[in-house]
Amino acid sequence: MTRPVRQRQSSSSTVTQAVRRDLRERALHCCEVCGKYGANNAHHRVNASQRGRGTLGNLMLVCGSGTTGCHGRITMHPQWAKSQGYTVPPGYEPCDVPLVRWSRFIGAPEVVLINDRGEVNPTDRSPGIP
Ligand SMILES: [Zn+2]
Repeated sequence: MTRPVRQRQSSSSTVTQAVRRDLRERALHCCEVCGKYGANNAHHRVNASQRGRGTLGNLMLVCGSGTTGCHGRITMHPQWAKSQGYTVPPGYEPCDVPLVRWSRFIGAPEVVLINDRGEVNPTDRSPGIP
């Protein structure tokens, strides 16, 4: 007799190895805030403790940790982070909230929307929630 397998909820905040790999590929291993090469930290835009998901649309690759680099800056400056779309209040869909993201291709920040497939699309909207 087999036990039923508990399915991982799609709302899980866990970042799987596959998602982590896709996140690094999307960002070309560079911090999505400052562009620094070698970033390896996954930042949840809707915080994991607030049921933020471990999906490409809710994650950013950032340098530093909870207290250093851009991850630290996001943590220590919540109003700024919110205005840039780096943090999204619970109840909002992060895929619909524009964010300022460093672009390796244009060598400057641009405002984009990122969906759960990891596709990055420039937008004319302002960053953050309206
Ligand atoms: Zn950075």
